[in-house]
Amino acid sequence: MPELPEVETIRRQLEKLIVGRTISSIEVLNPGSFRADADSLIGKTVAAVGRKGKVLIITSSRGRAQRGRGDLDGYGPDNLYIHLKMSGRLEFRAKGQGLKAKGETPKHLRVSFNFDNGDRLLFHDQRKFGWITDDPTVLPRGTDVLDPQLTSEILAEILSSSSRPIKQILLDQSKIAGIGNIYASEILWEAGISPYKSLRATAGSVVISSGLPRRPRPTVGAPRNDKLSIKLLSAIRLVLNEAIDSGGSTMDDKLYRHVSGQTGDYWSRRRIYGRAGQPCRRPACHLPAGRQEKSGSVIQKTVIGHRSTYFCPSCQSS
Ligand SMILES: [Zn+2]
Repeated sequence: MPELPEVETIRRQLEKLIVGRTISSIEVLNPGSFRADADSLIGKTVAAVGRKGKVLIITSSRGRAQRGRGDLDGYGPDNLYIHLKMSGRLEFRAKGQGLKAKGETPKHLRVSFNFDNGDRLLFHDQRKFGWITDDPTVLPRGTDVLDPQLTSEILAEILSSSSRPIKQILLDQSKIAGIGNIYASEILWEAGISPYKSLRATAGSVVISSGLPRRPRPTVGAPRNDKLSIKLLSAIRLVLNEAIDSGGSTMDDKLYRHVSGQTGDYWSRRRIYGRAGQPCRRPACHLPAGRQEKSGSVIQKTVIGHRSTYFCPSCQSS
């Protein structure tokens, strides 16, 4: 499933291509994929392309396009919200790159937006779990994980609000929006944190435990400037921004693509996800002589909250 880096990559690409364009028609080939009033969208101009978590937000207006605006005019019904889910894909076709010209309709085409200049934005979805809607309540409640307002103090409060393993909290879109299963493992490896770790706030300090989940204790106060949350936030930004710079992760199934159809490069650069049984890539996990891995520094696969999780028991032991 596309996560924040993939959706952000698409957002940046669309921002350059469709802002300022007016919707002239919408073809809905699969009604289940489109939960909005198509007629009310005709004649509207795309003012901005935003994102919260894994949800893409296309803001429209009847007025003059506000090209270059980075902000969004609230989250009202004039917006379209798009979630790619498992296999959704947005493809941009400039005028002339016509389906009719080639005499073909892609098998998994669900919705087509046609713009005033002849350009089109196509929504393909093989498994039909993705959707386009005008309902703003679909937006995740959690703070976008790359929102500059997410400080280490706020992150520490979020992490200490539950006794669940940290990996599960990172995936909880009602707490933090944007991280999915692949990047959760990548981020925790980068930070050197066990995916099982749980943080609980006690009076003025943070109690950290690792290993199997334990019975929750009452939360008293919130930790401040906790070293772990600073390290984790740094890892979040480093991993996600590197993935965005790489154009996201296109896995072997090739389902995730840029709007041009190209693939993202991060999958080949990933540190840990899907590498069970292979040596840890952290230099400190290797003996200096001969670069052999230390005992226990082979990537393990486990299941946390029904999701596959990869970690190095040597450098992510606490
Ligand atoms: Zn390691």
